[in-house]
Amino acid sequence: MLENKDTSKTSISDLGEFGLIDHLTKNFKISQKSTVKGIGDDAAVLSSDSTKEIVVTTDLLVEGVHFDLSYMPLKHLGYKAVVVNLSDVYAMNAEATQITVSIGVSNRFPVEALEELYEGIHTAAKYYNIDVVGGDTTSSKTGLIISVTAIGSVNKGEAVYRDTAKENDLLVVSGDLGAAYLGLQVLEREKKVFEVNPQSQPDLDNYTYLIERQLKPEARKDISELLKELEVKPTSMIDISDGLSSEILHICKQSKVGCNLYEDKIPLDQQVISTCEEFKLDSTTIALSGGEDYELLFTVSMEDFPKIKANPNLSIIGHITNEKEGIHLITRGNEKIPLIARGWNSLDSNQE
Ligand code: ADP
Ligand code: MG
Repeated sequence: MLENKDTSKTSISDLGEFGLIDHLTKNFKISQKSTVKGIGDDAAVLSSDSTKEIVVTTDLLVEGVHFDLSYMPLKHLGYKAVVVNLSDVYAMNAEATQITVSIGVSNRFPVEALEELYEGIHTAAKYYNIDVVGGDTTSSKTGLIISVTAIGSVNKGEAVYRDTAKENDLLVVSGDLGAAYLGLQVLEREKKVFEVNPQSQPDLDNYTYLIERQLKPEARKDISELLKELEVKPTSMIDISDGLSSEILHICKQSKVGCNLYEDKIPLDQQVISTCEEFKLDSTTIALSGGEDYELLFTVSMEDFPKIKANPNLSIIGHITNEKEGIHLITRGNEKIPLIARGWNSLDSNQE
């Protein structure tokens, strides 16, 4: 589908590099006050406010490693490439303001394919109210490479780090976990069925939420806004890109604390529970090790418990302990199991 043999498609060389950039970015509008100069010069110019600190983060996505174009529509890929970066900005308690987008692209992609990619980038930029202020474009011999850099700002001293969780703090997570990983499993399964029988029509009705979480994740811009409204400042925060257990370990190791995580408190969507049953997977393992959920994991002081306890967006899943007590999962059966980077029951050994 992406092969550039169809003569109705436009080859990148027809436009040239400058023509291509102009073409792809012509609909991008500047909306942030801090953007002085966007795309078009040697560098973008941003203004800074002395009351703020600037947050910068980058992610690199490589075809065949981070995404598979056989089930990832380019529009969704563009959207997701932006979202994964914004999630890191929001995890610093900052507001995202600008991004740059760099692509390495082989001539197997026609201009129309890149238009789709940029449509996704444009949709995300509008939805999250950020400006696309630059990037770079280069050729690639094989697959597609996308790198997004996101810039954000936060009031001085209000950035929230990973290494500042304190003993007795509550461990809190937004949304629910495990769905994006299962969405990928469903898509991989359908891809295999399709390879054997291209006539097959997948019935994905039971997996809509899972597939949406994999193909069109959202970043939790709302959580730092919600916490401000509730007048809660998290003591530490991280986004969940690699699975709950690995992010808990980051917070605990960097903060030099321990943690008890309660299995029965881990938030799971009904589709996660039913699909785990169908795939004979353990839902706790998936939540702990699946990854790509882009939820926020944070700690708050015990005093803030009344402010967050009834909030439907937030689940209190554990508490921080002394470093000497270690990092544990307390199971439904009240067993205490050390948490390891890939969960207490490695996904690999579970699957193979
Ligand atoms: P330079 O030769 O100085 O690197 P380029 O020709 O690569 O400049 O880029 C020209 C302008 O277009 C710059 O503002 C750059 O940031 C922007 N730009 C280049 N590639 C992209 C891209 N893939 N997406 C968005 N903006 C881009
Ligand atoms: Mg350049």
